[in-house]
Amino acid sequence: MAKFKEVVRIKVNDSRDIVLSQVIEGALIKGINIGSYVRTEKYTGYTKGGTMIPVDKLDELTEKLKFIMDAEPVGITVVCPECGERFYESEVKFLNIEEDFRGRDEVTFRCPKCGKDVKSLRYG
Ligand SMILES: [Zn+2]
Repeated sequence: MAKFKEVVRIKVNDSRDIVLSQVIEGALIKGINIGSYVRTEKYTGYTKGGTMIPVDKLDELTEKLKFIMDAEPVGITVVCPECGERFYESEVKFLNIEEDFRGRDEVTFRCPKCGKDVKSLRYG
């Protein structure tokens, strides 16, 4: 059973951190886990969906991260079902995050345009 040891935490905004952890099996580091830690009114803690990067893929990942910065801008967005406006998730404050019946992240946020508390899946 792998153990996770948090090593680096990057604060994205008041409601979300990116957490990088060593994935340890026995006494060996098998990879790096990239996860999220959220702070909302209903839940504070790690989210379920993390990504494990095996040690032998780290060089490739580092190279590709540089490539991404030269690519067309894309990002994870949320949509207000009340007014139809789309926002980058970094532009809104999460009030809650939960999973829908298919295990997809469903966030509750206050719409900056219409001011209502609404739910959206994450797109992108
Ligand atoms: Zn709205």
